[in-house]
Amino acid sequence: MQEDSIAVIQAKLKAFAVERDWEQFHSPKNLAMALSIEAAELMEHFMWLDLTQSENLPEEKRRQAAHELADVFIYTLRLAERMGVDLIQTTYEKMAINAEKYPADKVRGSAKKYTEY
Ligand SMILES: [Mg+2]
Repeated sequence: MQEDSIAVIQAKLKAFAVERDWEQFHSPKNLAMALSIEAAELMEHFMWLDLTQSENLPEEKRRQAAHELADVFIYTLRLAERMGVDLIQTTYEKMAINAEKYPADKVRGSAKKYTEY
């Protein structure tokens, strides 16, 4: 497993875009749209499968889905960089918010949204 930091990967992604003169297309709006489209491409690999099938993708299909997951990650990193969002700090912030919204003793075993508690 690679151990590059978020910042290192973001710098490589930015260099990739700069080399191709693609920064002009990478507005936050476009990156958010691209992120959503890649998420849909990921979902496509699971469409119409039952739960068991979704847990046991054939190797080639799993590899293709992994590439879509990487695309989601790539656009997430690019969007965070363009928005000036510190993804690690913000993720920890959101995890703290989620922990408050969903206290384990209150929600254990339930998939309800916090507004239903
Ligand atoms: Mg893709």
